[in-house]
Amino acid sequence: MKIFLRLCLCFTALLASAQHLVDQKTFDAIANEYSGEAAQENTRRIVEYHRIQGSPMMAAVAEQIVLPRLKAAGLEAKIEQFPSDGKTKYGTYISPMGWDIRSGELWIDQVKPESVAGAKDLKSIMLCRYADVPMCVSTYSKGGEWSGELVDVGSGTSDANYQGIDVHGKVALASGYAANVVREAVLKHGAVGVVIYPAADDRPDHPDMVRYNGIWPRAEELDKTSGGFQISRNQYDMLKSLMKQGAVRVHGKIDATLGPGKLTLVHAYIRGTDHPEREILITGHLDHPKWSANDNASGSGAMMEAARVLQTLIAAKKIAAPKLTIHFMWVPEYFGTLAYVSHHPEARHCDTPWDDPRNKPDAFAEGKPCIIANINMDMVGEDTVKTNSRFYFTKAPDSVVHTFLDALLADVLEQTREADLYAQTGTRNYWQPEAIPYAQGSDHDFFLGLGIPATMLGHDPDWTHHTSEDKIDKTDATEFKRVGVFASAAAHFVASANSSDAERLGVADHASRVRELAHRLAQDANADTNKPNRRTTRNLDELKNQVDRLNTSVAPSGKTGRAIIAGKTGSGPHRLTILTLDASAFESASPDDKKWLAEQEARFASDSEGLATKPNFALISFEAVNFMNGHRGTAEIADLLSAEYLLDIDQAWVDRLVSILEKQKLVSR
Ligand SMILES: [Zn+2]
Repeated sequence: MKIFLRLCLCFTALLASAQHLVDQKTFDAIANEYSGEAAQENTRRIVEYHRIQGSPMMAAVAEQIVLPRLKAAGLEAKIEQFPSDGKTKYGTYISPMGWDIRSGELWIDQVKPESVAGAKDLKSIMLCRYADVPMCVSTYSKGGEWSGELVDVGSGTSDANYQGIDVHGKVALASGYAANVVREAVLKHGAVGVVIYPAADDRPDHPDMVRYNGIWPRAEELDKTSGGFQISRNQYDMLKSLMKQGAVRVHGKIDATLGPGKLTLVHAYIRGTDHPEREILITGHLDHPKWSANDNASGSGAMMEAARVLQTLIAAKKIAAPKLTIHFMWVPEYFGTLAYVSHHPEARHCDTPWDDPRNKPDAFAEGKPCIIANINMDMVGEDTVKTNSRFYFTKAPDSVVHTFLDALLADVLEQTREADLYAQTGTRNYWQPEAIPYAQGSDHDFFLGLGIPATMLGHDPDWTHHTSEDKIDKTDATEFKRVGVFASAAAHFVASANSSDAERLGVADHASRVRELAHRLAQDANADTNKPNRRTTRNLDELKNQVDRLNTSVAPSGKTGRAIIAGKTGSGPHRLTILTLDASAFESASPDDKKWLAEQEARFASDSEGLATKPNFALISFEAVNFMNGHRGTAEIADLLSAEYLLDIDQAWVDRLVSILEKQKLVSR
């Protein structure tokens, strides 16, 4: 017994030597309380709703599932709504129309009789039924009934697809994004409806999957828009073989309503004791089609459990009461967050004056409400073996001056791995989480666009993403527990850090930045060994600066942040709108500008079906505009972009981008 006790003590001492930022007692309390099963159960309740942005079903899941469960856990919680009507704009985005669907079906209507003599009754072949596979009806489909001959128009998204093809009064069979196909086929070329099939290279090894797709009509298109359906690859192949024999007609019937709607958000708060006006904001999008589990009922369900766990432990005084407010926000993806930051100027950067595109001269002031950091949870519950994915968190791009979140998350991730957490009903999957460069596509984008440190927690690649295969059976209580504990512990640390925690975090921040810059230099040296270049010099200077700061940050006066990246005092372009930019912002660009933009899309194309694995144009242009704070010239911005992405971007390139953005009133000089 004595020997055993001694061994135990040694073991404890070894563990304690890890010296993580989050105090081990706090971490363990969170790990013991957080239930992967409860997060999964929340998810199971959420997926029963067809949760489309702006739809009454989205309000229903917020009111019937999320809000009552938060209140039952003792949290301060409320609902907030914003107009969503196909014309109200938030930033550069037009809000979706409200949409309610009751049923939808697509059947083969008839095949030319002579071609099917003796064949089975083709009228009995159903291609889609909303009740069976909710995402087989394109979201925002207009209600109505139509039938017509199928005409394959390829991607169906450009005029070229319709040359020499008459779709008038017919049904376009296309592989492009439904919104673009409907604009071309229905609005421009007179088709009555659309049927969308998967492109040949889109996950061909899963031929029965149906993809998520949407029409997104604007208010002024309401009269002319129509409905759409998605079919699987196998259904498409069957239709194509029938079409070889003769004309094939289909019959679509959708019972749905399009009209003014609302974006519904849910808030929950654990108020801070010292600075309740400063908050750590945890977000997750509550929307997506019925049964869609990992995206993103999982993030929503995991957040509900995180809120319960922190509330419970704080109330029981098992972990420290937070000094800052912990704010949880469930949103309609993108639109809800953009509406929120558009209506709430207090959704602003803390501590540093920021060139706020919302044009508030007093955007920053001591003691005013602000967001210290954002943790966005999007697709967090994967059974990583079934989905063949791995957990990641995204790091901040260089334009975000305060980077402490990257260093904190890296350390808490290590601590979570060491804890070797399992849920009793979950898997024993090996956990290989990763910190990856900033990737776009979820609600963290808007906070980064406001200079706020922000991260996305998710899984990638995931072959089930945005398909009928993303179901509750692809989730794992163990993964919920690991990610939920990781996020909860990190959020609690930010909210409750004292000055010595902040100093330790400062050291970790410089160390993490040194690692990043050293990695960049090593990569760059491989690419170009002889030619001295400006980006290498810039990264080297920043590395030296961070090493200096690492040396001095042991002293209490050490400040965090990125001195060189923070920008010189000079003058240059500055942004006039909240990032990110919607493609619709360039609709009125000149043909020449559109051509340049298209060339950049091609030059910096993403090479991946999932998260981009190299910087694409959307990301580079986002970061370029984020650097446009009025104090940096275009030459400096070109150097910053080159250094960050190890690309050759020159001043002329940035000037061209600025001139296009200026014409659209998105940037001014
Ligand atoms: Zn998502």
